[in-house]
Amino acid sequence: MVGSTDAQPATPFGTVVAPHMVVATTVDGVFGALEVQPTAPLPMHPFAHVFHYGSACFEGLKAHRGADGRVRIFRPDRHATRLADSASRLLLPVPDVATILSAMTAVVRANLDVVPDPPGSLYLRPLLVGVDPNIGAAAAPSREAMLVVLASPVGDYFAAGGRPLKVAVETVLPRTTPQFGRVKAGANYAMALGVTDAARTRRGADQVVFAPGGVVQETGAANVLLLAPDHVRTPALDDGFLHGVTRDSVLTIARDRGMTVTEDRLTVDEVVAWLDDGGELALAGTAAVLAAVGTVVVGDRVVTSPTTRAGFHPVTSALRNALIDVQQARAPDRHHWLVDVSP
Ligand SMILES: *Cc1c(COP(=O)(O)O)cnc(C)c1O
Repeated sequence: MVGSTDAQPATPFGTVVAPHMVVATTVDGVFGALEVQPTAPLPMHPFAHVFHYGSACFEGLKAHRGADGRVRIFRPDRHATRLADSASRLLLPVPDVATILSAMTAVVRANLDVVPDPPGSLYLRPLLVGVDPNIGAAAAPSREAMLVVLASPVGDYFAAGGRPLKVAVETVLPRTTPQFGRVKAGANYAMALGVTDAARTRRGADQVVFAPGGVVQETGAANVLLLAPDHVRTPALDDGFLHGVTRDSVLTIARDRGMTVTEDRLTVDEVVAWLDDGGELALAGTAAVLAAVGTVVVGDRVVTSPTTRAGFHPVTSALRNALIDVQQARAPDRHHWLVDVSP
């Protein structure tokens, strides 16, 4: 029907700005008080380290409104710990995990009015940047930093239909360098962008799975999982890729359901064989939760999972729904993943 809201494109993820942000800056490397401010341009010196030498890391997590109206953040401890870890690997001043958690809570409370009802959520974007005004510090860390926590109301990532994704496999280039694989740094995205953009324009791919030497790492922004009714298989944690909270949550739910979980070395040939056998391939990350992959392009080969070709990916759907049920407090929170921040 013309004019039906279904025909409208969903608001792009991450473009809606919540009214408030939380900011803390260091003095002599020590973080000062958290300040709730209107979301507005930041006062930054053009000599700031981050603009020249890439001293920036971030996080992405969500606060969900439950059926009871209360708002809960999903696994903020994991995200806070990972931000502190990223900061230390970038040689930035490292905020206390407690400070990061307080900043996350403060930003949700300041924006409670705009936390959407399910399936929407409030996406939180903590950001840490080096602010030393020194363009000569190419080989020196920034001694001062700014922590900013932004918020953005988001809808269902798959409001537009949730068609299975097409991924291209990159078998030569890595996504990033070994020393930055598990750091959530903007620089990693800059490195993956050229390969991802070329795959999009030349092969119509939505994402690239980086698998240098034929060994699977992850995509530019999500972890890779192979799913079958009683089995989940994924690369074992190492320094080459980002240790996703969604990955960990899905594996935990799979174990709770009695599924076998295998974390080991995963080759591109094994991914292709898994799909040929009717298995499912999914990408895990906070924004999309768990997204089904229907088609994998490896060199000149185009492999489509027989299951997904039929528009049917039951294991992906079941695990995705189980995780969302916990996030939205419709299922028991067995592992204490939710932190209630309602006043
Ligand atoms: C953020 C991110 C993920 C997903 O991590 P989650 O904690 O599940 O959101 C995966 N890979 C990369 C490269 C990332 O930056």
